[in-house]
Amino acid sequence: MESLVISKENFPEIINTIVKSYRLFAPTEENGFSGFKIIKDYSEMDLSYLNSRMPPKAILFNQTETLFLMEPGAKGTIKTKEIKNEKTAIFAIRPCDAKGFRILDPVFLGNYVDPIYKANRDNSVLIGLSCNQPDTSCFCTSFGDSPASGKYVDILFTDIEENYLVEVMTEKGKDFVNDFSRFFTPASPKEIEAKNAKEKEAIKSIKRNLKVEGIEEKMDKMFNHPIWEEYAKKCIGCGTCTYLCPTCHCFDMQDESTLEKGARVRVWDACMFPEYTMHTSGHNPRPARMHRVRNRFYHKYSYFPKNSDVIACTGCGRCIRYCPVNIDIIELMNRVSEMEL
Ligand code: SF4
Ligand code: SF4
Repeated sequence: MESLVISKENFPEIINTIVKSYRLFAPTEENGFSGFKIIKDYSEMDLSYLNSRMPPKAILFNQTETLFLMEPGAKGTIKTKEIKNEKTAIFAIRPCDAKGFRILDPVFLGNYVDPIYKANRDNSVLIGLSCNQPDTSCFCTSFGDSPASGKYVDILFTDIEENYLVEVMTEKGKDFVNDFSRFFTPASPKEIEAKNAKEKEAIKSIKRNLKVEGIEEKMDKMFNHPIWEEYAKKCIGCGTCTYLCPTCHCFDMQDESTLEKGARVRVWDACMFPEYTMHTSGHNPRPARMHRVRNRFYHKYSYFPKNSDVIACTGCGRCIRYCPVNIDIIELMNRVSEMEL
């Protein structure tokens, strides 16, 4: 790993240089929330929020994606979507959201490779930004991660007052930095120490902890426990938690058509909705809200780790911050963890 620095004075210039050769996604202010958007100028970027409301998963796994177009008739044709290999950089991804891609990878690049996600992933450089001041609902440390971790990004920026410390984590990151090498200088031991001190401080400020040890085994014995009904009574089934989660990845296929042509479109879906599991026959294997609420927590903390060796939660805290009825995943899972069975 190479450690470099860029002065904050030079920062606007590097951003305005990157946008000339990359599609650069960065956090911007949108109606009082932070959101990732393609920017064309440094002035559009807003780093004053801790994190975006919608996670950057929406950049690589679009909320709505046309897969192919259909033209009916005797000579009906199917035209698959042309995959564009656009050079993309995503700036200021928080470490928890970067880990979200580690969780999406086995889904879209596993036994069946999704060519659209693959092209988006291959063509994107992930540039992280350490969280110097985590939110009260953040809990990435519960999974052994850190608010200043570069593990899941190509390059990690950390604000160390006058400068950013820039850690180059992968070959892709190295190529990117080499293209803009005139902006960077090698970091001094003092600057590296400044980053370490910021990281320690940030870790210390995270007060919430989800007790993950042994949770999977505990859940193996709790499928019929009344706790799921208790939380289902509170939940209103709005689906906010799943839409805003950096690891949720369920989708639906819809055919949209006019008389002249049609399109098959992939759209995000959510397991919190009853239609999600509805069969064409009318039978629904998860008919009650309790079944859906239970499934959400089992999918993250039991099924996914069994299949892909990683808990499908990064501790980003979005589902806690935005749930309209204050369902708190830490509180629930800690109750599970501490349950005497
Ligand atoms: S389950 Fe909640 S805390 Fe965990 S990654 Fe999803 S939104 Fe974030
Ligand atoms: S955000 Fe809250 S109320 Fe809405 S579906 Fe999720 S748990 Fe239920």
